[in-house]
Formats: sequence, C-alpha cells, structure tokens
Amino acid sequence: MSDAITISDGMVVSIAYTMKVEGEEIEDATVDDPLVYLHGAENIVPGLEDALTGKKVGDKFNIKLQPEDAYGEYDEDEIEEFDLDEFPDDEDIEPGLELYLEDEDGNIIEASIKEIDGDVVVVDLNPPFAGKVVEYDVEVVAIRKADASEIEHGHAHDEDGHAHE
Ligand code: ZN
Repeated sequence: MSDAITISDGMVVSIAYTMKVEGEEIEDATVDDPLVYLHGAENIVPGLEDALTGKKVGDKFNIKLQPEDAYGEYDEDEIEEFDLDEFPDDEDIEPGLELYLEDEDGNIIEASIKEIDGDVVVVDLNPPFAGKVVEYDVEVVAIRKADASEIEHGHAHDEDGHAHE
C-alpha cells in the first residue's frame, strides 16, 4: 500500500513539460527548472489541470487537448479596430506584431496585429493558441501543500517567499 501524496486542489505542483501546437514545440520546462503552479486555481489550462488531478511525483503522461480544454475556441468577436494614432510612434506597427494590452481590470492580454487598413489597426485579442489543439508531455516533479498566503493569492510562491509584486 502506498500513501504517496497525490495532486488535488490546494497543492503546489512542480511539473516538467513540453508544449506543442501543430507539431511545433512552443515552450518547455525541465526537471531542474520546472513550472510551479497552484492546483485548482486556474493557473494552467483546464484540460491540463484536470489531467494532473490524482497524479503523484514521477508520473509521466502525454495529453492532447481540444481548444475548449486549452486556450478556448477562436472568437471572431475578439477582433477590434484601433486608430493608428493610439499606438506609440516608435513602435513598428505591422501585421503579426504581438502586443500586451491591459484590460479594465488591470489584466494583461496578449494580442496581435491582424492587419492594417489605412489608419485603422485591426487587433486580434484572442489568446495566441485559441482554436488550436495543444499537446503536452508532462512529468510530475514535486508536490507540496500550499500555505495560507498562496491559497489567498491564488498562485504559488517560491522558496524565498514573495517574488512578485
Ligand atoms: Zn502572491
């Protein structure tokens, strides 16, 4: 009988992983420098969080997530037009340029310029991998209970305490 700790809400989990979209490697984290996140706090995409529930240290798996379990469906309503004047002069405004915009709640949104039509800049506010099947290779590296301030903040803190604003 094993009483190995398993992943559930309120655990801080370290994972090594490779993320692929359409066969292309997009990002990864290694065993020596894993991604550390708070489980159950929507720090990671929902399908990956679901797949990790109940796993223990050393478990490895591969998962392919449909858009609704990853970055969401592509939403044509998330296309907005801005005046070219609203962009800083020193910025190279061109299709494909990635932008970081702040919404009303102060959240940072990753967006990209879709096209430029005269003085109108068409901006795509969909997440970069909206509408895509996303594949992960995952290894669980470490699991520990979150402390009270992590639960309160909704994210993991590193060993030095509070390494974010
Ligand atoms: Zn915090």
